[in-house]
Amino acid sequence: MGSKSRFNIGFKACIAAALVAGGMASVSTPAVAQQSKFITVGTGGIVGVYYPLGGAICRFVNAGRKDHGLRCTVESTGGSVFNINAVMSGDMDIGFAQSDTQYYAKTGAGAFKDKPQPKLRALFSVYPELLTLVARQDANIKSFADIKGKRINIGDPGSGTRGTTELVMGAMGIKKEDLKFAGELKFVEMAPALCDNKIDAFTFVAGHPNAIFQEATTSCASNIASVTGPGVDKLVKDNPFYAKASVPGKMYKGTDTAQPTFGVLATIVASADLPEQTAYIITKAVFDNLDDFKKLHPAVANITKEQMLEGNTVPFHPGAMKYFKEKGLIK
Ligand code: GLU
Repeated sequence: MGSKSRFNIGFKACIAAALVAGGMASVSTPAVAQQSKFITVGTGGIVGVYYPLGGAICRFVNAGRKDHGLRCTVESTGGSVFNINAVMSGDMDIGFAQSDTQYYAKTGAGAFKDKPQPKLRALFSVYPELLTLVARQDANIKSFADIKGKRINIGDPGSGTRGTTELVMGAMGIKKEDLKFAGELKFVEMAPALCDNKIDAFTFVAGHPNAIFQEATTSCASNIASVTGPGVDKLVKDNPFYAKASVPGKMYKGTDTAQPTFGVLATIVASADLPEQTAYIITKAVFDNLDDFKKLHPAVANITKEQMLEGNTVPFHPGAMKYFKEKGLIK
């Protein structure tokens, strides 16, 4: 990405917006639906940020259905890794993916070890997501290194969160066996498990503010912990898709000071096999409605069109390129 400076998370936008942005997939008009081509967007858990934003993308696409015949629906999934696999197998048309997961898919690393995905393409990037560790206050976890000996949810195997968490554990020399318990709960299960005292902490790579951290910090006494140290410094230095960032103080109950960590960008990906016209229509729907899109969730309140072309490590899909060239965003 050109600059890592966009990772300053502002939270002018109201937290309540995070909670009402869900469920936006639009309704169909039967006459057109008959000739419609269905497209599916892979998101994340319904309580995350991908899901409500996927709903918003579909709503913008569906508003033009009479002209283009596409009917867009969202699907809740395990997250980035699941979504990339689904778009590459043709089960879904586009999906949300963390920029680091995108890179690991391209290079055949992490969850994509021995399975590189040379046909993975990007439509655009969307907003910063921070690796966030939230812990029960009685677990006394103030920074990532404190997870040793504790019950930690390290992420759904289909998530990007899982890969980023394991990478940081590796960078800090923490093995799975060093944990009392390594959980693989779905996003929707994490905050309830924390507050039911089934786990001491969980990680989630996500935009802020979001409903999962709100639930975790208001349903029981818990705090956001920092993710810092020489291992993190090296990860950020060695990889352009990682940038330092902080979860602002007072964003969540129980955490008054900013907690330094690092982050990635949420991106939208597709297979090179997705028709050019489909990728063009989706890109156009989001970019042409960006002002409305930005109002739908505080995580995207400050994004710009120029920034949405940054941070991808795979080539742009030709349909996205067509739109960017048409609008002069790319020469
Ligand atoms: N970045 C997360 C993951 O793929 C999902 C975030 C979300 O659902 O908002 O693990």
